[in-house]
Amino acid sequence: LEKQFIEIAKKPSITLDGEEIRLLANVELAEELPLLKKFKAEGVGLYRSEFIFLQSAPNLPSEEEHYNFYKKLCAQVKGEVIIRTLDLGGEKFFHEVLEKDEQNPVLGLRAVRFCLKRKDIFRTQLRGILRLSGENEKVKIMFPLISGVDELKEVISFLEEVMDEMKKEGVKINENIQKGIMIEVPSAAEIPDLLAKYVDFFSIGTNDLIQYTLAIDRNNDKVNYLYQPSHPAVIRMLNKVMEAAKKSGIDVSMCGEMAGNPKFTTLLLGMGLRKFSMTPPSLPVIKSVLRNVKISDCEQLLKRVLSMESASQIEKHIIAVNHKLI
Ligand code: PEP
Ligand code: MG
Repeated sequence: LEKQFIEIAKKPSITLDGEEIRLLANVELAEELPLLKKFKAEGVGLYRSEFIFLQSAPNLPSEEEHYNFYKKLCAQVKGEVIIRTLDLGGEKFFHEVLEKDEQNPVLGLRAVRFCLKRKDIFRTQLRGILRLSGENEKVKIMFPLISGVDELKEVISFLEEVMDEMKKEGVKINENIQKGIMIEVPSAAEIPDLLAKYVDFFSIGTNDLIQYTLAIDRNNDKVNYLYQPSHPAVIRMLNKVMEAAKKSGIDVSMCGEMAGNPKFTTLLLGMGLRKFSMTPPSLPVIKSVLRNVKISDCEQLLKRVLSMESASQIEKHIIAVNHKLI
């Protein structure tokens, strides 16, 4: 199987009717770096930078440490490298910086909310990313858990402040660094047209988007059975985001687990998704699916699914159609 995967990894990522699909990797740990070449990731669609923080705990990573790690990451791939700023909190605790005193941490001071409270930590990370951007144009920056325009503007204005500070110091940075946001909070998924005015790209985070849309803790086994990516509310929401993104002309990818689940590849292609980011070992699996389908069939699948009423019905239909197509 391993050998088969390596073979697929070498083949072009293109559908039967000639549509090119970008396949990127999600990365967390340093140990995963060799997998990027092995599975031929075109780029990094999501670097979860929490892990730099977890590794250096109880100390905070320095600007130098940020810079060095991101540089290593860039050396592994030809294409873009999207570094997501700290997404701490929620299920990812970091006891040294975050007091564990919240009743409802997943709805609490996490991700950009935390960074805007702890600007010292935010600044150090942004400086590390920006320093590398001056040497490497592949570097892009992404903000997690954005929930509205005011919050996004606050984040961007802080980024600009840090950029000005570095320019004054004479540090070379890419002033046009591409910036994007995760679409992973339902409020953001409802207003992609408004958010698109402020950023260069979106990355859909289905893990949190499903959790928040269905009010199901993504890590709670007791309610696991209700964590349904095929829920019509989720499917409709994803489709609306894709439609709005297309209308705004904004670059969009998906980095949640759905992007690496072969069951959903056809449906997502039907929605117009052309950029998928996933854990490296899933890359050949998804590629082998997309190489065997036509976009027109995927669009037809989506159309049917959008008229269905329940997760079980949708799930059954997707599986049946996939079976026929692939
Ligand atoms: C997501 O929420 O879908 C996502 C990719 O981010 P994380 O899993 O790190 O929360
Ligand atoms: Mg998330």
